Amino acid sequence: MLKLPLHWQILIAIVAAIICGLIVNSLNQNEIAAGAHVQNGMQFVGKLFLNGLKMIIVPLILSSIISGVATLGQGSDLGRLGGKTLGFYMASSLMAILTGLLVVNLLTPGIINGEPAKDLLNLGNSEELSSTLEKIEGRGTGDIAAVFHRMLPANIVKAAAEGQMLGLICFGLLFGFFMTRIESQYKETLLNVWQGIFDTMMGITLFIMKFTPIGVFGLVGNTVASTGLASFKPLMIFFITVLLALAAHTFITMPLMLKYIARVNPWGQLRGMAPALLTAFSTASSSGTLPVSMECMEKNIGASNRTTSFVLPLGATINMDGTALYECVAAMFIAQAYGLDLTFATQFTIVIIALLTSIGVAGIPAASLVAIAVILAAVGLPAEGIGLLLVTDRILDMLRTAVNIFSDSCCATFVARTEGEETHIAR
Ligand code: ASP
Repeated sequence: MLKLPLHWQILIAIVAAIICGLIVNSLNQNEIAAGAHVQNGMQFVGKLFLNGLKMIIVPLILSSIISGVATLGQGSDLGRLGGKTLGFYMASSLMAILTGLLVVNLLTPGIINGEPAKDLLNLGNSEELSSTLEKIEGRGTGDIAAVFHRMLPANIVKAAAEGQMLGLICFGLLFGFFMTRIESQYKETLLNVWQGIFDTMMGITLFIMKFTPIGVFGLVGNTVASTGLASFKPLMIFFITVLLALAAHTFITMPLMLKYIARVNPWGQLRGMAPALLTAFSTASSSGTLPVSMECMEKNIGASNRTTSFVLPLGATINMDGTALYECVAAMFIAQAYGLDLTFATQFTIVIIALLTSIGVAGIPAASLVAIAVILAAVGLPAEGIGLLLVTDRILDMLRTAVNIFSDSCCATFVARTEGEETHIAR
């Protein structure tokens, strides 16, 4: 049987999905019933795959954090690793935002022919817009306080059921930490149990990953079939702005950090993480991609289980470079389109809120729209501006999620290397 590496299989699936999606889109536009049937099929397969990934997230996050923290032991190891991880996450997100800010100031996508593009872009009042606004209504600056509330959920089972990863992570950190302080007979048992659960979860991940090409075909095909290409035209400059900024972060900033700080081969990092990046692209969900990125990090990059199981679950939840960059560019774009005076203070506010909210954004599709609403409220713009973003949001979501995952993996490599691990990509 033909045995292509997984990332090639996924790439081929993406190309096939785009072609099929475009055909289905034109069938749908001509109201030919076959289009809807094929699209339903793709949606079905995609959802099945996504459910498979989501199914393992809660046990995977809990078992990896608990066993990771417990093996790190008490005191200084944990503090050192935590400090490095958070420091890297903050620095890389800030760099991503500043890259976005630079590119959006250079290309000014919200200004067309010297005029704010508000009317040209035909700020919609579609059904989709009103349902989005309904979802994000009332989420002002209170949302930032809510991030802290989510860190300490009153009910851990409810938090798990609702996919509140931040609460789960904090609970896992506490559990792992205090587990090391109980009587050794119980400690051993608990450690074995959590390590056993973790290994089992990784086994299931490997199994689900075999179906990635099929799942990716369904997810991407369905997206292309519903959006088509024509609707992108008016937003092309905005799209290109985000694309360029994400590319600069991924292909310039991060490789420089990898090369000079982590002292590894950046190309090796990209190649090793390829299956995870393509899964992130297809699912537009950092949380959903977590099992795959952990597998790639350990097998292909060669980081230890100790580093991977601490850094990556945390990253999938709080570190989102692509999202932070997107929030900044999107808010600036809307501000430009409305003709808002972009003073230093306004831009500074946008940068800070983008940084803070990107920590609290959930690793699920379209989650940053809520954060953008918070930024718009803070700089005094109407939430309707979000309407401008809906057309391109899905495709840009796929791209920014891949950047989110790449940055998490770079942090894991950085931590691994500074902890004295060799990895397969060391220079
Ligand atoms: N979809 C992104 C993620 O899961 C979050 C976002 O930017 O909407 O990483």
